[in-house]
Amino acid sequence: MKDTDLFQMALGLVPPWLVQESIFQPSEKLLEIRIDFARGSRLPCPECGVGCPVHDTTEKRWRHLDFFQHQAYLVARVPRVQCGQHGVKQVAVPWARPGSGFTLLFEGLILAMAPHMAVKRIAALIHEHDTLVWRVIRHHVREARSRADHRGVTTMAFDETAARRGHDYVTIAVDVLQRRVLFACPGRDGATIAAAAADLRRHGGDPSAVTSVACDLSPAFTAGITRHLPNAEITYDRFHVTQLVTVALEETRREEQRRGGWKGGLLKGNRWALLRNPDNHSPSQAKAAELIAMPDLHLKTGRAYRLKLAFQTAYADGPGALQRWCRWAARSRLPAMAKAARSIRNHWDGIVRWFTSNITSAIMEGFNSLFQAAKSRARGYRNHQYFIDMIYLIGAKLDFSASLGTHTK
Ligand SMILES: [Zn+2]
Repeated sequence: MKDTDLFQMALGLVPPWLVQESIFQPSEKLLEIRIDFARGSRLPCPECGVGCPVHDTTEKRWRHLDFFQHQAYLVARVPRVQCGQHGVKQVAVPWARPGSGFTLLFEGLILAMAPHMAVKRIAALIHEHDTLVWRVIRHHVREARSRADHRGVTTMAFDETAARRGHDYVTIAVDVLQRRVLFACPGRDGATIAAAAADLRRHGGDPSAVTSVACDLSPAFTAGITRHLPNAEITYDRFHVTQLVTVALEETRREEQRRGGWKGGLLKGNRWALLRNPDNHSPSQAKAAELIAMPDLHLKTGRAYRLKLAFQTAYADGPGALQRWCRWAARSRLPAMAKAARSIRNHWDGIVRWFTSNITSAIMEGFNSLFQAAKSRARGYRNHQYFIDMIYLIGAKLDFSASLGTHTK
């Protein structure tokens, strides 16, 4: 078989496109495949598809998948056609999208690598600048998202993920049943819920068909959901509700430690022994927690710790047990725990709804750790758009077949 026939078949080229020659330069680690169209061919006008005569051509070059360890390029003269109806038009080539210096297969490779590897590393691997790689990601994420179908979404979860150091957040909306990211945008206020609802509508979904939403206890989320997802019942996310109690425990410990004395000394260095689940305790942590919790020592932190353990049992048992817990915490003479109990009572409906709706935060926590892992691989992102594109790429289950042109194969 001739090399030109081999490449013709491997590239899947059909007439009028044909491989004219291949130039292999091992010393340069370079393979150039030159493609041309048969003389006298009529090519389809991009507007109407009618075969038209060629007006003129310009030579273009595209980076293709490596040929073994050698960089490969396709080179072709790209024609403009003279259409009787539409005038002079540039024709589309089947191996690349307009304006890109990469072939579609090469862009597909970038999209396959990007969820697993920092864009900077991909750029180094393929010897291209990382802004070019980001541009490819941006294009295909936007294309695939424009076609994303969000019909039938009924159950959503909202959460925020830290975008950069400090108080800089991106809010993420997830389709709980399909386990996919629907929408992400900067900020974490009511406006992000409005934007998510508008985006849902743009993708064929219906905000009034959303009947169940999980989120944290932020008043902005609650107000946004009440307003923009009017038929949704809110379930306050278990993780964040539990956090109310662990934060109260930590506050109590810090306060008591600050007072010093033998009690303060006993608490020193035992922050994690108290915050961690007993199931995950190391032997020394288990001993420390047990000692601090001993009623005879009359430690405030000991009482707070016993309240935390009781809370975990009550939150599993049901609303009655949770109500008894709140009464206990309110009378505990531990201001931080009494505050947590008040907060739970103030969010009562959304908290006990968990016993019936059973929306777990596990899906959000799973996504969050994937996004944060990507962020630390990248050592942070230069801007929000990069982070958001990566969130979609990792979590949105996007279908790239249309924008990569693989739907025809
Ligand atoms: Zn035309």
